Amino acid sequence: MHYPDTKLPKVGTTIFTVMSQLANEAGAINLSQGFPDFDGPEFLRKRVAHYIEHGANQYAPMTGIPALREAIANKTERLYGRNTCAESEVTVTSGATEALFAAIAAVVQAGDEVIVFDPAYDSYEPAIELNGGRAVHLALPPPSFNIDFEQLKAAISDRTRMIIINSPHNPTGAVLSAQDLDTLAEIVRDSDILLLSDEVYEHIAFDGQPHQSLLRHDELAARSFVVSSFGKTFHTTGWKVGYCVAPAPLSAEFRKVHQYLTFSTVTPVQLALADMLNEQPEHYLELPEFYQQKRDLFCELMAGSRFTFEKTAGTYFQLMDYSAISDLPDTEFCRWLTTEAGVAAIPISVFSESPMDTRLVRFCFAKSDETLRAAAAKLCEI
Ligand code: PMP
Ligand code: GLN
Repeated sequence: MHYPDTKLPKVGTTIFTVMSQLANEAGAINLSQGFPDFDGPEFLRKRVAHYIEHGANQYAPMTGIPALREAIANKTERLYGRNTCAESEVTVTSGATEALFAAIAAVVQAGDEVIVFDPAYDSYEPAIELNGGRAVHLALPPPSFNIDFEQLKAAISDRTRMIIINSPHNPTGAVLSAQDLDTLAEIVRDSDILLLSDEVYEHIAFDGQPHQSLLRHDELAARSFVVSSFGKTFHTTGWKVGYCVAPAPLSAEFRKVHQYLTFSTVTPVQLALADMLNEQPEHYLELPEFYQQKRDLFCELMAGSRFTFEKTAGTYFQLMDYSAISDLPDTEFCRWLTTEAGVAAIPISVFSESPMDTRLVRFCFAKSDETLRAAAAKLCEI
């Protein structure tokens, strides 16, 4: 028997799995893979338990529980001023990962180009390639990691089907401005290019800056799949529930893929999320403040270290420069940091096709203050 050639020759085990595993083996504090070390809201957990106990354990409707789609549409209107149709424009998915894959699979055809900005979240390119497309990588230049719009214009070709953007951005924390959205709109105006906007950190933007969802922008929203995840918003990454908002014709194609990828998403969690959005909206409204305190605590503690950094503008990740500590490439430095210093981090070069010569690692500060203090104490010693 000859097994088939791999369809994803560039893909190995994700850096998140690799680093979390190494952290566990080494008994290190795990600031690598992005997940909180605390629980989601008690109300939400109790609602899930309630629905499981009360028979909500069979398939949900393919597009999502209507109450949750309504609650998402209401949130979208409240925050971004966009009136979306819960029936035809909102689809609940099994995590943002599924939504990203479904959006790409729905529209990318063999030979299409999809523009991604490096460092890019690692699930985009495999999804593009499995659907016969080709990722065109553009670098976000440090230290700002802002999009170079001239470079974007130059990279667009007749084959460009889609541009993937991510704000707040993982791993750099960069956020798009309202002006950036206008510039993007100008660039795509006379084309059929679609946008896939990964907004899983929509509720984690700091220093009073409102999140610039593409849903705020009429022109962009008309050609966009906007994807988010409740895992980030409610500290429940293990539940894997996300959603996609897109105009009805795009949602119709998206749903053709979704119905054969997973068909539907976990029922009791959807019901509980609808209650949570409706009854405790203060949770997501106060999330920027909640994480800003953690960012500020971590940065204050790290001020005594030899790492250098600018405070992150969004996400629960903080980039730090270790060039005063080591000349090692970032992947090796992260291994050393985990096994020798007892703190795991993520190297950022793995998210770029042609990594820049930087000495940057990513720390996740979605952790209890106690964990952050313990990690910073170790990091200040090196
Ligand atoms: N996009 C980005 C930028 C992320 O950081 C994550 C979280 N790991 C995802 C997508 C996937 O989200 P989910 O866990 O809901 O699939
Ligand atoms: N998004 C998370 C991160 O950036 C990890 C998700 C995963 O492990 N696939 O760390």
